[in-house]
Amino acid sequence: MISGISVSPGIVFGKALLFKEKKIKINKNKISSQNIKTEIKKFLKARKKSKNQIKEIKIQAKKKFGKEKASIFEGHILLLTDEELEKEIINLIENKLLRAEYAVEKIIQEQINSLEEIKDEYLKNRSIDIRDIGNRLLKNILNIKIIDLNNIKKKIILITNDLTPSQTAQINLKKIIGFATNLGGKTSHTSIMAKSLEIPAIVGIGNITKKIKNGDFLILDSIHNKIIINPNKSKIKKFKNEKKIYHKQQKKLISLKNLSAITKDGRIIKIGSNIGNYEDAIKSKKYGSEFIGLYRTEFLFMGRNNLPSEEEQFQAYKSVAKKMIGKNIIIRTMDIGGDKNLSYMNFPKEENPFLGWRAIRVSIDNKNILYDQLKAILRASAFGKFKIMFPMIISIEEIQYLKQEIEKIKNKLRKKKINFDENIQLGVMIETPASAIISKYLAKEVDFFSIGTNDLTQYTLAVDRGNDFISKLYQTMSPSILYLIKKVINSSHKEKKWTGICGELASNKKYISLLIGMGIDELSMSSISIPTIKNIIRKISFIKAKKLAKNVLKKSTVKEVKQLIKKFNEKENLL
Ligand code: PEP
Ligand code: MG
Repeated sequence: MISGISVSPGIVFGKALLFKEKKIKINKNKISSQNIKTEIKKFLKARKKSKNQIKEIKIQAKKKFGKEKASIFEGHILLLTDEELEKEIINLIENKLLRAEYAVEKIIQEQINSLEEIKDEYLKNRSIDIRDIGNRLLKNILNIKIIDLNNIKKKIILITNDLTPSQTAQINLKKIIGFATNLGGKTSHTSIMAKSLEIPAIVGIGNITKKIKNGDFLILDSIHNKIIINPNKSKIKKFKNEKKIYHKQQKKLISLKNLSAITKDGRIIKIGSNIGNYEDAIKSKKYGSEFIGLYRTEFLFMGRNNLPSEEEQFQAYKSVAKKMIGKNIIIRTMDIGGDKNLSYMNFPKEENPFLGWRAIRVSIDNKNILYDQLKAILRASAFGKFKIMFPMIISIEEIQYLKQEIEKIKNKLRKKKINFDENIQLGVMIETPASAIISKYLAKEVDFFSIGTNDLTQYTLAVDRGNDFISKLYQTMSPSILYLIKKVINSSHKEKKWTGICGELASNKKYISLLIGMGIDELSMSSISIPTIKNIIRKISFIKAKKLAKNVLKKSTVKEVKQLIKKFNEKENLL
């Protein structure tokens, strides 16, 4: 039995697919002149194989995303079969006696270098295509198996070292029924996406790719954090029964979805959903969400080859607005960087990407991105109740700058007589210690705060949220974090503003009483958690929760904090 960090609940049964790509290793030793023909053949054969693979991907892409996106792969085929490229590669094999893989790597790298020197977005995108094609060609020359997550034919449980958020976005849910990874943490973006896709997943296992073989039959139970390899019949029966019980409980909870989250003594907490796209907005209704507390717009920017235009963004935001009629939608500007890269944007290689060019920093440095997105949101605000939120704020200067820019955009729209919500509210995410510490001043600048506890924890404790190696240190119940949360809530209330939480803490059953006692106004989470959290809130006494919070805030260690909360939850029979 194997366990790790359970990130998205469910129980599934199926065969393992080990997604383990070997590293490309280039042999730079020269060949003898007798081998020239063999190396040329190797290159041409691999090129043909690559061409056929891309053709197949094109067919699948056409089915899933339509003709326009599929045409990208037509371009890939043209690049792959380019005559100049072929000549140069064969020349290196014949005249410099390089192995096929070394010749390909050299030519591809030369092409990339020359394109990257030119300051042109289109050509930069082309360099990414070339890298993609080059890697495919190299893998085929070296006979390295290529697995395309989009193109898996049978139902499987995916076992792999790590999944990036954009790979997770490509998962075909009909075929990949669960996944388990060596790396990853509870609040990494891949885990958050797994939860919103409702795909059972366990991450941070450390060595699962060593323990499981391709084709092993698995039970993946991410409710109890267990993976069982090749179980006997009685084990399968037992887990099938567990699955039934879980579904029954879920059904019962969902039936309570329309009750409001009100404590026994009348304090109302607003409960919202974190979404990444239109499909998530539909799901939010199924689970009784009252509003959208966090719309992570970066997912619209991922898994594609170019920036979405203002019009495309407008259409996407408008469709969410139409789904959420009358309900608030807190839309966050693109939070790219950290673990969410855009292949087409040429991100710098950074030693510490989470401390680097991420979120609002990218938007501020790319005015076209900031303007397109804010314009699209403002235009969509004529169709729904949007509030704009900025990620990773660290200073008053940033928010003042953003407010100025919004005014400029509003003026442009007014001139063009384009409708938008004149009173659209602005808020910031509190996810850096800096923003929490200056919350007193920030509260005068904005209408609301939403605490991103995933990042606030990682930045306050200096513990990478996706690193399973130090996951023990990732303690949101650290008195340091609780101190900051309380400070932020107080700062907002002093200015008659409100504070919510949209990090994963908002859906942690154990700590709801504490958050309510601290005075939190709203909680936003993956929709699937909403019924459970509402149910707990309805059992809480606000007066008692306030006393709990007061006592917890006097404690100096995580252990004492957790003990007090545990005792409270038991006494009040909350869980
Ligand atoms: C957070 O940091 O808590 C948050 C909600 O933002 P994200 O998880 O998208 O970084
Ligand atoms: Mg964050």
